[in-house]
Amino acid sequence: MITVQEATSIILANLFRSQAETVELHQAGGRILAEPILADRDFPPFDRVTMDGIAINCAAFREGKREFPIEGVVAAGTPQQSLQKQEDCLEVMTGALLPVGANAVVRYEDLELKNGVAKILIETVNEGENIHRRKQDAAQGDKLLYPGIAISASEVALLASIGKSKVKVQAFPRTAIISTGDELVGIDEVPLPHQIRRSNDTALQSALKQLGCPSSLHHVTDVKEKLEKELKKILDQHDLIILSGGVSKGKFDFIPQVLESLGVKKLFHQVSQKPGKPFWFGTSSTHTVFALPGNPVSTYMCFYRYIKPWLQKSLGTELRENTAVLAQDYQFKPPLTYFLQVKIKYEAGRQMAYPDTGGGSGDFVNLKDVDGFLELPLEGQHFKAGEAFPYIPFRKL
Ligand code: AMP
Ligand code: MG
Repeated sequence: MITVQEATSIILANLFRSQAETVELHQAGGRILAEPILADRDFPPFDRVTMDGIAINCAAFREGKREFPIEGVVAAGTPQQSLQKQEDCLEVMTGALLPVGANAVVRYEDLELKNGVAKILIETVNEGENIHRRKQDAAQGDKLLYPGIAISASEVALLASIGKSKVKVQAFPRTAIISTGDELVGIDEVPLPHQIRRSNDTALQSALKQLGCPSSLHHVTDVKEKLEKELKKILDQHDLIILSGGVSKGKFDFIPQVLESLGVKKLFHQVSQKPGKPFWFGTSSTHTVFALPGNPVSTYMCFYRYIKPWLQKSLGTELRENTAVLAQDYQFKPPLTYFLQVKIKYEAGRQMAYPDTGGGSGDFVNLKDVDGFLELPLEGQHFKAGEAFPYIPFRKL
């Protein structure tokens, strides 16, 4: 049996080598950028008027002039105009090019317009006022975005503004989620008294979807000979395989031996943790296989603690550690890393974690009442309120 830290190192040393793929920009939100992005023009590309009003030359204002004859109107989206006389003004709209000869914009709110003349009502007008200078934010050729960042709506805006209707992002592994267990029936079926509906597979699919990763769902039998055939077919068509169930010590837990017979090498089996002790992990030259224990809380915890960071790192994202502060004393004696279910409350800006132990790894009803897992280290037994521990959230607050 290995520790949580050892399991983590092994998993993160066996990443998926993601290829880049091109997607439409409107599909790129949430994906990981796979190319550097340069500014195609200066940002902004011209001296841009930022307020509706008049453009003047400050020199005239400084000399005491307050009334400026209006030469004309400059709308946004029209070519640049010129101020004919320094003592005049041009009406300018937000987004228009600053006229040649002007160096400040005075807002309509600070003017009185009458008979073709704009009277300035304020005491000071500074050069550059209400003007967004060309190149102020970025110069043509500057690197705007780097590979590895998660594309949010603000990056989509940048990409749109430089004309990238298609963008390169990291491709996801072809992913299969497999549930095992002859006691399990489909969501639409009515279970017999000795059966239950399967839920882990759809939960995993949903968790992956939140990371943007599509997946296919499969269910395989506990009958060894059939299982081998079914798994082989799935392995042939996927890179990432996530199994739930069939990895414990039961008479029908054939997953580890069948995976090995199909060429997936075991890198570890069993981790000193609760829940999720029977966790199995292996790879072949083309596959990564996470075989998770079937108890729903174990499956769930293992996904967020191991698979999510593996996927993120595989796609080039830097992993960030999250911590929360234990809000109440807690005891856990066995020499295992304990993933304690907690509810988070924000107190004085800190994430406070309130334990809600639940009824064990089969009690997935309790998950609806908590927000994530607090990782209590194997070495401790008495955990004190006020201490911070790694926190694995599964719910956005
Ligand atoms: P196993 O890891 O196969 O021994 O399964 C442990 C427990 O988890 C059993 O009670 C299973 O019925 C349950 N279980 C396994 N797979 C699923 C699933 N996909 N959905 C819900 N429960 C499951
Ligand atoms: Mg089973």
